[in-house]
Amino acid sequence: MAYVVLARKYRPREFQDVRGQDHTVKALVNALDFDRLHHAYLFSGTRGVGKTTLARIFANCLNCEKKISSSPCGDCTACEGFQSGNYPDMYEVDAASRTGVDDMRKLLENVHYSPNVGRFKVYLIDEVHMLSTASFNALLKTLEEPPSHVKFIFATTDPKKVPLTVLSRCLQFHLRNIEPTVIKEQLKTILSQEDIPFDEDSLQLLSRSAQGSMRDALSLTDQAISHGGGSIAIDRVAEMLGTVRTDEVSEILNLLIQGNRKATLKFVDQLSKQAVSFADLLENLQRSIHEIALAQITGQTDTDQLQAFLGKFSAEWLQVAYQILVVGMRDLKYAPDHKVGFEMTLLRLLDFEPVMDTNPDQTPIKKEEAQTKSQTEDSSRTLESNATSSISKKASASKEIPTNDEQRIHQQSVKASSAMHEDDQARESSVRSDVASDREAVLQDPLVSSLIENFDAQIIDIKRR
Ligand SMILES: [Zn+2]
Repeated sequence: MAYVVLARKYRPREFQDVRGQDHTVKALVNALDFDRLHHAYLFSGTRGVGKTTLARIFANCLNCEKKISSSPCGDCTACEGFQSGNYPDMYEVDAASRTGVDDMRKLLENVHYSPNVGRFKVYLIDEVHMLSTASFNALLKTLEEPPSHVKFIFATTDPKKVPLTVLSRCLQFHLRNIEPTVIKEQLKTILSQEDIPFDEDSLQLLSRSAQGSMRDALSLTDQAISHGGGSIAIDRVAEMLGTVRTDEVSEILNLLIQGNRKATLKFVDQLSKQAVSFADLLENLQRSIHEIALAQITGQTDTDQLQAFLGKFSAEWLQVAYQILVVGMRDLKYAPDHKVGFEMTLLRLLDFEPVMDTNPDQTPIKKEEAQTKSQTEDSSRTLESNATSSISKKASASKEIPTNDEQRIHQQSVKASSAMHEDDQARESSVRSDVASDREAVLQDPLVSSLIENFDAQIIDIKRR
């Protein structure tokens, strides 16, 4: 038997097999089961999210010989016709290749005649936004007053290009991009059924690369199977996609924790020799940082490899790192080449100490005071001292072997604290003199002095007795 590509072999034939489009499926199921049928539907969404698949299932449901329902019998001639892909009352047109008005007229010529065998004639027009204006006008006439035995289903990747006059006559459903986790689950199910060995990381990579499209995911999986000679392994998949493995991201995260600049640059060199896409790597780093940030709240990661990093980064550092990566990604196109852009982004990340602040004595308030002082000490160091206090830079607390930088900052903070002492003493003596002068003023108040006199007189009186 000839090999059937996975995307075709596992194309859903019933609503319950459709993945990642629950809201649309639910609406269609309800429409069918409660007989609230519209005459025209528009499915929009990017490629490979299930637009034509849903249209075909819907058409099958409408024409099953048993009855109109969301679960067609699967045994009748109509159901078999839909399964084999040739049902005489289903008219599928690709508007991308038949945009002319003559094509449209030809298609709609027989629209008023009853269906050949079924309940409804179903017209599925794919990429409907590609039709010419004249074609849309021809279509509109029928769409305004369609015969009761006709259903239109339009599919488009670009609903904005569909005229409003057409849109307003359709029930519109926007199909979502399918979540990588949903795609991954589906790949797992399919590969298990196909008895093809795989590993989790490969599926992770494939499902992300598909960018929300199940069809793309299955095509890539097909490709990965032939690339890997009948099995799916992360090395081959990464090589095939020319992308980054989670190992590489983990390695970078480790280097950031160690703060080892030399080793980091060496690793980038190595990556460059492997012709890794630095843009992909930045994107994967962003994803990982995001995942770690969420996982530090929920305690759970999608990828096993990131589990090891939980609790290793402070929440502040993760925010800063994410921002740096976003900027790094944006600026990649301005860099002389991607490697340079990538290196500079990593060096910027290395300028900030990622580890959790483990010194409880260093309260945020104390840090802030130190920061304010060092700012007045040397305003040119403002930026750095901001970083110092807000994301626990090395100098603030650590007892590691000091580098030149650290020594300088340490000296600064010593100066800052001695300055603080002098300042405190001055403030205290000024407070004391303020209190003394306040006392003088109070004593001179006539009411107070008469009270005191009165009080003294009473004391003398008591003593006399
Ligand atoms: Zn049937």
